[in-house]
Amino acid sequence: MENPLTPEVLADPVALTRALVDIESVSLDEKEIADCVEEVLRAVPHLTVARHGNTVMARTELGRAKRVVLAGHLDTVPLNNNFPSTVQGDLIYGCGTSDMKSGVAYALHLAVSVPNPRYDVTYFFYEAEEIESRFNGLTLVAAAHPEWLSADFAVLLEPTHGVVEAGCQGTMRAVVTATGRRAHSARSWNGRNAIHGIGPAIERLAGYQARMVTIDGCVYREGMNAVRITGGVAGNVVPDLCEMEVNYRFAPDRTAEEAEAHVREVFDGFEVRVTDSAQGALPGLTAAPAQEFLAAVGEAPVGKLGWTDVARFAALGIPALNFGPGDPNFAHHPEEHVEIGKIRDGAATLHRWLASD
Ligand SMILES: [Zn+2]
Repeated sequence: MENPLTPEVLADPVALTRALVDIESVSLDEKEIADCVEEVLRAVPHLTVARHGNTVMARTELGRAKRVVLAGHLDTVPLNNNFPSTVQGDLIYGCGTSDMKSGVAYALHLAVSVPNPRYDVTYFFYEAEEIESRFNGLTLVAAAHPEWLSADFAVLLEPTHGVVEAGCQGTMRAVVTATGRRAHSARSWNGRNAIHGIGPAIERLAGYQARMVTIDGCVYREGMNAVRITGGVAGNVVPDLCEMEVNYRFAPDRTAEEAEAHVREVFDGFEVRVTDSAQGALPGLTAAPAQEFLAAVGEAPVGKLGWTDVARFAALGIPALNFGPGDPNFAHHPEEHVEIGKIRDGAATLHRWLASD
C-alpha cells in the first residue's frame, strides 16, 4: 500500500489530521498506522528512530541543555459510523479527529519540519492508550526502554480545545462497609439492619465539602461520591451487610496515601477497603520549558480533572501538561470532530515555542 503520509500532507497539519484519521487504528490494531508513521520518520535525517511493538519513538540528538517530549496515542476507540473522515465547513468529523489524531498530527508535522528545535525533542507515537494500562505503549516502553522517556518536560497532545491543562487529579475507589445481624423481618428486633447502618456514611457524603485547591495558578476541584451501593438478602430478612462504593477525585497536592487517610477519616467508625487508586500529577509549571510553553500559548492554564498519561511522566519526575486542538466533550462521541481553525492556531503556537529561529 502507498503511504498516504506524503510530503505535501506532512507539511499541513489539517491535511495530516485527515490522513491519520483515515488510517483505521482501533486499539490493538495500530500496526498499519505505526508502519506509516515509522516509514515517514525514518526518512528524516535529523531524527533517530526506534520502535517497540506499535509504539514509534523519534528523537533529535543535538546536544541541547534540555529535552522535551511530545506524545500522542495512535489508537482510537471503536468506530461508530464515523469512518472515514468528512469535512463540513470548519469541522473535520470522524473517529479520532479530537482524541487525538489532530494532536498526533502536530507531533508528526513538527518532527519532520523543525530540524533545529530549541530543545532536544523526543516524539512518541504510542499504542493502546484507550484500553487497560497494561497494553499502553508508554507502560511497555517504561518497562523495556526506560531511557527513551528521560526528559525535562512533556506535552501530551490530548484534546483540550486549545488551552493548557496541567497536571491531573488522582482517583481512588474505596468500599465502605456496615455490618449487622441477620434476623427474620417479622422479628426484626432480634437483628441489626446493616442498610440502616450505612445511613450515617451517606449523610457524611451528602454534607461533604469538597476542596478547591490552586496550584501554580491551576484550580483543581475535588469530589467524593457514592457510585454504587449493595445490600439485602431477601424480602423478609433483616440484612447483615451493606457495602457502598465511593469514588474520591483528589487534587494533586495529596499523595495516594494522604488521600486514603482522608477517606478513612471521613468514614471514621466504618470498615474502609481501598480497591483502586491512582495518584494525580502536580502541574509542575515552574520548569523553564513549561514557562516558555505557557508564554507561547499566552493564556492561563487550567487544572486537568480527569486522569491522563501526564501522571506517568509526573511519576518519573517529569512535569507534563495536555495541549491539543480537539474538544474533549466530543471525544469518544459519534459526532466527534475537530475545528480546522483550532488545528492551525495550535500548530502555530507549537512552532513558536519549539523553533529556534
Ligand atoms: Zn486520548
